[in-house]
Amino acid sequence: MSRQERFRRLASRMRRCRLCGLKPGAHAVFGRFDGPEWMLVGQAPGEREAALGRPFAGPAGRRLFEWLKRAGFEEEEFRSRCYVTAMMKCFPGKGGRGDLRPSRWQVENCAPFLEQEMEIVRPRVLIPVGGLAIGRFLGRRPLAETIGRRFLVEYAGRVITVVPLPHPSGASAWTNLAGNRRRLGRALRLLKRADGRG
Ligand code: SF4
Repeated sequence: MSRQERFRRLASRMRRCRLCGLKPGAHAVFGRFDGPEWMLVGQAPGEREAALGRPFAGPAGRRLFEWLKRAGFEEEEFRSRCYVTAMMKCFPGKGGRGDLRPSRWQVENCAPFLEQEMEIVRPRVLIPVGGLAIGRFLGRRPLAETIGRRFLVEYAGRVITVVPLPHPSGASAWTNLAGNRRRLGRALRLLKRADGRG
């Protein structure tokens, strides 16, 4: 079976999944699959992403694509080359201080889908965005120890280049510190290099 066909079947299962018992209308959000070589994994879609069925379509996405533009990636071109998904595919809902963070059991419920996405995409370059996704691939550790560094991770017998990014949510003040802005700049240069430019 072709990668395209395997992805089509997986996408259909993800769209129909109601395992987390979220409010009616919640459904999985993930990017398009155009035979990508790269994969980006965020935390969970927000309300706007859920409404549009498009990951990183809200303010956090605008910030993310502003960062990527600094590394020379245009949004639509990037989305066609890099499969965009999340640790939790459905919008987890609103809490007192904005979008809820996915709970441990919601992430566990969704983990088999992430595994299957990894198997189908077989990314050469993986970009985990935010602490939750970074922890999944690199183990839990402070952001300052991972942003601005490149990691080689073995997955299913292949070596993947992992370049983490901080979460672009406006609620995160991490990038306000000068040292962290420099770390982000290094991470963007690493992505450029992973793309064979620089
Ligand atoms: S978050 Fe994942 S496991 Fe939970 S309902 Fe959505 S697709 Fe299913």
